[in-house]
Amino acid sequence: MHHFFGLSRPIIFLGPPGSGKGTQAKRLAAAYHIPHISTGDLLREQIKQKTALGQIAKGWIEAGQLVPDELIIEMLLNRIQNEDCAAGYLLDGVPRTLVQAEVLTKEWGTAHLPFVFFLDVPTEVLVQRAERRLVCTACGMIDNQLVSEPQAQPTCKNCGAALHRRPDDAPEVVLERLKVYDQLTKPLLSYYEDLGVLVQCNGNQGVDQVFRQITDVLENKLD
Ligand code: AMP
Repeated sequence: MHHFFGLSRPIIFLGPPGSGKGTQAKRLAAAYHIPHISTGDLLREQIKQKTALGQIAKGWIEAGQLVPDELIIEMLLNRIQNEDCAAGYLLDGVPRTLVQAEVLTKEWGTAHLPFVFFLDVPTEVLVQRAERRLVCTACGMIDNQLVSEPQAQPTCKNCGAALHRRPDDAPEVVLERLKVYDQLTKPLLSYYEDLGVLVQCNGNQGVDQVFRQITDVLENKLD
């Protein structure tokens, strides 16, 4: 895989909770040396730091609801002003509403429309994945293995720190997040399809296969 600099089109990962956005986004950002911007991660950091934004966001997140658009937009526009975003960046979990998508289109201009990868995964698989998902408290690695004999304290394969379950992966919250996705985020599929930038990927495959679908598209279009 070649490296590239000055990627003029942002990359967006779109898909329901548990579709593999975080896993693919981390991997792609590392391969292409561009920042991985996850609004979910930014919000969890705010909660950890006990900031005012964190206090507000916590209630929405734990209820499986979206954090209000104005807060997301302000946080995101701030983040992408950073110098490290000058040569391109990748968005994971944002935009999640039409309002957010429209703000971004305006920000970028029609000359810099994004690549939008939609990770398509059947609902029953999403529910199973949420039940199994563990996240590393230190390096953020996402683990999804099904262990036959769960360890008392599972640890990260990558860095050895403790793995934990996201509070919003509790079954009733997952169902609410899926509902919110259907109502507020799914309309973005036709929004980006109409702009001619939607790339549909079969997300119900192994991590490597999904990654190959994505890089095949980027390598062909970026040359
Ligand atoms: P994620 O890690 O992407 O699954 O995000 C976790 C939670 O953070 C979501 O369920 C929302 O409550 C909130 N969140 C993350 N990104 C956004 C966004 N773009 N718009 C609104 N809420 C968001």
